[in-house]
Amino acid sequence: MLTVDYITNRVFNSRTYILSDEKYDSVWLLDCGDTDKVLERIGKKSVEGVLLTHVHSDHIYGLEELIKRFPAVRIYTNAAGVDALKSPKLNISHYHSVCPDISIDAPDNVCVLKEGDYLEVLRTPIQVYETPGHAPSCLTYIIAKMAFTGDSYIPGGKVFCGFPLSNHKQAAESVERIIRLSSEYIIMPGHTKVNGL
Ligand SMILES: [Zn+2]
Repeated sequence: MLTVDYITNRVFNSRTYILSDEKYDSVWLLDCGDTDKVLERIGKKSVEGVLLTHVHSDHIYGLEELIKRFPAVRIYTNAAGVDALKSPKLNISHYHSVCPDISIDAPDNVCVLKEGDYLEVLRTPIQVYETPGHAPSCLTYIIAKMAFTGDSYIPGGKVFCGFPLSNHKQAAESVERIIRLSSEYIIMPGHTKVNGL
């Protein structure tokens, strides 16, 4: 049976979700921050793939180390995300002193998703929605009874649209779309709220 767990990362309390199943020796992640915490949590299992909710530094800063550790790991994002993985300005690591500049050019590892795609992970079907606004690379994944929204929708919070490629109108449309989904799915956001923030 699919188990969903998460860790709260040191940078901006972003979350890395861990999808696992006792029948499999590998796990899947949603976003990748503190790899040390992930490795501690997964024990002897390996990481087979990472589904990126969007390509901003606080959600991807562990990827480089993860690829070193698991060279066959597959990283899923959309076309805008592929560009952002390579560019410290697009992935905003350039503007954050908390992470060094991040540039990941790993064509063998990166897989491109688009609206309406289906994947199967640990024998669980996954549905992909493009939910841009916060960033062009924003994807929402429907997995079992959950919607993993990254920063496209954080319940009780406002979608941050202050980045150069943010788009307020798209963000509002994406939020509306996700709210419609939320009657059917449990929202799994991209950050842990700390001290009410
Ligand atoms: Zn973000």
